[in-house]
Amino acid sequence: MLWSGWGDPALARELPEQVRALLRDFLGVRAPDVPAVGLESVRLPPAALSEPLLGALAEVVGSAYVLTSHEARVRHTRGKSTPDLLRMRAGDGSAAPDAVVLPGSHEEVAELLRVCSAERVAVIPFGGGTSVVGGLTASGSGFTGVIALDLGRLDRLVSVDPESLVASFEPGVRAPEAERLLAAHGLTLGHFPQSFEYATLGGFAAARSSGQASAGYGRFDDMVVGLTVATPTGTLDLGRAPKSAAGPDLRQLVLGSEGAFGVITSLRLRVRRAPDERRYEGWRFGTFAEGAAAMRALAQEGPLPTVLRLSDETETMIGLAKPDAIGSGGSGCLLIAGYESTSTSGGDSGWGSVAARQAGAAAVLTRMGGEPLGAEPGEAWERGRFSAPYLRDSLLAAGATVETLETAGFWANLPRLYDAVRLALAGALGSPLVMCHISHVYESGASLYFTVVVAQEGDPVAQWEHAKEAVNAAIVAAGGTISHHHGVGRDHRDAYAAEVGPVGVSILQAVKARLDPAGILNPGTLIPTTA
Ligand SMILES: Cc1cc2nc3c(=O)[nH]c(=O)nc-3n(C[C@H](O)[C@H](O)[C@H](O)COP(=O)(O)OP(=O)(O)OC[C@H]3O[C@@H](n4cnc5c(N)ncnc54)[C@H](O)[C@@H]3O)c2cc1C
Repeated sequence: MLWSGWGDPALARELPEQVRALLRDFLGVRAPDVPAVGLESVRLPPAALSEPLLGALAEVVGSAYVLTSHEARVRHTRGKSTPDLLRMRAGDGSAAPDAVVLPGSHEEVAELLRVCSAERVAVIPFGGGTSVVGGLTASGSGFTGVIALDLGRLDRLVSVDPESLVASFEPGVRAPEAERLLAAHGLTLGHFPQSFEYATLGGFAAARSSGQASAGYGRFDDMVVGLTVATPTGTLDLGRAPKSAAGPDLRQLVLGSEGAFGVITSLRLRVRRAPDERRYEGWRFGTFAEGAAAMRALAQEGPLPTVLRLSDETETMIGLAKPDAIGSGGSGCLLIAGYESTSTSGGDSGWGSVAARQAGAAAVLTRMGGEPLGAEPGEAWERGRFSAPYLRDSLLAAGATVETLETAGFWANLPRLYDAVRLALAGALGSPLVMCHISHVYESGASLYFTVVVAQEGDPVAQWEHAKEAVNAAIVAAGGTISHHHGVGRDHRDAYAAEVGPVGVSILQAVKARLDPAGILNPGTLIPTTA
């Protein structure tokens, strides 16, 4: 993983000429004056942890697993939001942890939390490092020091229960490895977020992730049937049955807790039989509203495809649904539908075989005014589904800020939310390029996912933070949730407080105080500081 960008450097993407022309002529993008720094030039604060404390940590995990090198600290500084990358490219490593610690078992995690609580060392659980909401930004204020607790050594598939279709994993398994391990059993998780290549199972649970095939396989929190969590006050082991009436479901308290309540050390996940047939296709709608109405019909009446995604007019024109062929969009709004099924199970969501679901969905999409475009747009989307983040690095280098943000709401409120976000962005940024798609649908509502491109001006971090503040306020005012799948982190903390209200905030604070009395776990993330 690039320390100041996304992914495998060998897969870096050149900007196509159409995109360069668009940036130059319509957005006024100019190359930045100062090039990005090299890793060795990132400025880090002096390490705060004393030798005896580092020794105490090494006693728990072994000295080979306590890293204090410049490179290890840089690679665990912040996540992968655009402000994170802009700061790293500028050489600002001020949020670096003092050390990176890699535990090898649940017991080691529990013991580390005990030592760190006693010594007041802040602990930032670190999965794949792909947080885009400031969920990994260390704050050492009031602490002896900060460690990044890298879960990369906890990377095993522990067991598979083929009868219940449940697999037990350690939290540091990255998504591609999870799929590879499950494929050996003829199984799949079916969780394919755009961060698939690097994000971990523990991170998905901690941040309530949702993948591109959520219509068929569900969100990640739907997949979690059990969890083990190490907290400073003891171990939580949750999930004896898929569903239960034994009081409130405490699994839900851990899902989305972003490392602020404890460290997930084991996950029991519902898995599916791997599909042996996949088909993707494109449809065109005249307007975003017409396409959204068609998605709603599919979500409410069925049959629901496995993948369902609708780009608005601007995103369709730019061609963002086909990142490998960007610049080749068209008019109207492109809808991508994908169908996956196994011959034995008859489909990932119980809607039947691929052919039957495709035909059923086609009838609904046609009735709602869709024009079939055949397999090509769907297959192009499928080929390029993980490549868009690579384009961001090229855009940043070219002098454009590109960032994504998301929300969700009930169908009846979606148009208001869509307008509110676009208006807030225009008010804060002048004339940015704003694209949107819907890619997660439910019977009662859907998510809205925006991609924003704007010429960098002055301090690009401050420029974006100003816009983000305006959007957060607009989402709250328009009745949407502050996040459908990116989570809260630091960036959404205040808006989350507004969303859950003072009683909700006091519940979060009480749970935090009970599980983490010294407040060492991910300080500053998730938990609002005032009611
Ligand atoms: C290019 C890009 C595309 C993305 N696309 C999507 C998408 O399509 N869908 C989506 O849902 N998200 C997406 N994300 C956001 C991100 O990938 C998710 O939030 C993901 O769940 C984070 O997983 P991770 O392993 O990288 O966790 P990290 O980023 O390492 O951690 C995320 C948070 O969880 C905490 N944490 C991590 N592991 C544990 C653990 N074991 N126990 C307790 N706390 C823990 C961390 O402290 C942090 O607060 C994207 C991000 C990027 C950069």
